[in-house]
Amino acid sequence: MAAHVLRGSRVVQQLVRQRRAAAVAGGGGGGGVPAPAAALAGRAKSTQATELTAEAAKLGPQRDQLDLTFTDTRAAFQSKTTWEVFRGVLVYTLCTSRYLVEHNATLMKLFRKLLGQKLFHTVMRATFYGQFVAGADQASIRPQIENMRSFGVKSILDYSVEEDISTEEAEQAEMRSCSTPGEQEQELTVQKDPMARYHAHREFADRRVKVQSARTYFYMNEAQCEKNMETFLKSIEAVSGSTQCTGLAAIKMTALGRPQLLMQLSEVIMRTRRYLAELAGSERATDVISQDVSVEQIQSRLKETSGPGVEQWLKGLTYDQDGLIHLFSWSGLIDTKTLMSDLFRVPNLTTGRMEPLITSLTKDEEEMFKNMMRRLHTIFSYARECDVRVMVDAEQTYFQPAISRLTMELMRKYNREKAIVFNTYQCYLKEAYHNLSVDLDQADRQHFYFGAKLVRGAYMEQERYRAASLGYEDPINPTFEATSEMYERCLLETLRRIQHYKKYGQPRKLAIMVASHNEDTVRFTVQKMDELDIKREDKVVCFGQLLGMCDHVSFPLGQAGYSVYKYVPYGPIDEVLPYLSRRAQENKGILTKVAKERKMLRSELLRRLVSGQLFYKPVGNYTPV
Ligand SMILES: Cc1cc2nc3c(=O)[nH]c(=O)nc-3n(C[C@H](O)[C@H](O)[C@H](O)COP(=O)(O)OP(=O)(O)OC[C@H]3O[C@@H](n4cnc5c(N)ncnc54)[C@H](O)[C@@H]3O)c2cc1C
Repeated sequence: MAAHVLRGSRVVQQLVRQRRAAAVAGGGGGGGVPAPAAALAGRAKSTQATELTAEAAKLGPQRDQLDLTFTDTRAAFQSKTTWEVFRGVLVYTLCTSRYLVEHNATLMKLFRKLLGQKLFHTVMRATFYGQFVAGADQASIRPQIENMRSFGVKSILDYSVEEDISTEEAEQAEMRSCSTPGEQEQELTVQKDPMARYHAHREFADRRVKVQSARTYFYMNEAQCEKNMETFLKSIEAVSGSTQCTGLAAIKMTALGRPQLLMQLSEVIMRTRRYLAELAGSERATDVISQDVSVEQIQSRLKETSGPGVEQWLKGLTYDQDGLIHLFSWSGLIDTKTLMSDLFRVPNLTTGRMEPLITSLTKDEEEMFKNMMRRLHTIFSYARECDVRVMVDAEQTYFQPAISRLTMELMRKYNREKAIVFNTYQCYLKEAYHNLSVDLDQADRQHFYFGAKLVRGAYMEQERYRAASLGYEDPINPTFEATSEMYERCLLETLRRIQHYKKYGQPRKLAIMVASHNEDTVRFTVQKMDELDIKREDKVVCFGQLLGMCDHVSFPLGQAGYSVYKYVPYGPIDEVLPYLSRRAQENKGILTKVAKERKMLRSELLRRLVSGQLFYKPVGNYTPV
């Protein structure tokens, strides 16, 4: 393990050295801000990109009117060659075949056998891989990234290689990583233990089941986590090298450590919330004790039962500027010197004895937790150095309290001068608005910059099924409309706060990404930005969509000067097949939306045919915000 500790920091040092050398060779790198057209030309690496940007430089920057009906086919597909438009029609037509979509994994394996590797790769490049994946590695995806950028759309790199493991192997990996050696596997339900929700269950061990698009990491060992960290670092390096504006990258915490630790931490957070509610005599579980409750009240609540260590514990309660009481110094969590089991000790409210809130961790588990924290620090220190924002993806609700808490502490540490760390809020959750407001308040009280990505959520079916099987309340809003209402409520809250900060001279205090393919959501955001006088060039609201989907929304937005990012998956063909398989599955669920995009692609194809533009060469001159 010690070797890993060293390896992580060496990787960063090496990347930082390379970065600085490149900056010197390039005559100052990130120092001055070059004119947009020159900036485009300066960054182009491949021959193709250099040609395009040189031509773009002659034209000067450009900005279009935004048509909020998102029906302008020319604007939607002007970054594409006619072959790419045709490929879009083909892929979306294939996606309408339920049989093909539902059996895509088996069919892909069959085709690979029948066609042989070479021909199979050619077919994949001409269809699904070409549509949804940018290329095999960072060098080969550069032309596409440059092309999108010249049409106003930036990239978030997502290395989409997944272990192609069977359900059985996934179950084994999950159950092995989620129990302490020697521990008996128990079939817990919420009736037997209210915290059963935060334990692994064999029935749900394959976390890929009933999930849309999101990538799943299974814990193999610490060395694998180290490799995942290196991949994230390389993505940060790549975006910092390819964007003039602050780049963006995304990470998943389950890739960086043993998931059991996230479950245990989630459990301890929920126990803490309940404990605090009991201590403060409140009905609702809470993260802090409000100003209304004094320390004297807490002392008198504990007086009857006060045991050894309680006095000391009372002295250790932490207060923030508004006088709110926190049970622990949560910042200790991300401090690699603190032991988890030392941090979470509280007096038992009946016996008065100090007790741990967490089942004690073995020495190895404590070490693994420290490793995970070290990996997170390595990523965020490097991101800060490269001026790249990093979004922490939201995952299942049994991990999410821990992921969110850790992300908030990382924000507190790394978002002192600008928003580098972004948290993700899943608006399909009944608790979404509450969680977001609590976190926004914390950032405000503790004076750090706040970054949030708003999504609807990718794990709906799995969450519902798990809740019903284990007997806890469904955490998801009852209907799609309720989720959309929640999304708009969260969005409005952040936009209002952005407006407020702007008014008081802190225009960048809060930044958000609207990560959605939903046209109504995008329209709502644009309209509210207008109403609240939040300008596109304020650079505090950006949009996020996946490569190969929703181009009719992303590109017109980018060409009208809004900040837009595409999640850009990349990786060798054979290794991204599991990702492609899920992409096809997801499209099945949104056939009506796909129908619109397919219709628009067809119209564009026809338009080019009729107007003699079959050999149209995309040359963009849009400056991304
Ligand atoms: C850039 C980007 C980043 C993302 N990052 C994350 C992430 O970190 N974590 C994550 O979980 N997801 C993430 N997602 C996925 C996202 O949560 C959605 O699954 C996906 O984008 C579909 O939502 P939509 O708004 O685009 O489309 P829509 O089709 O408008 O919405 C579909 C979504 O609505 C919700 N929904 C559908 N039916 C119901 C119902 N009956 N009741 C309640 N809710 C319902 C579900 O969440 C469903 O996925 C990301 C998506 C993008 C584009």
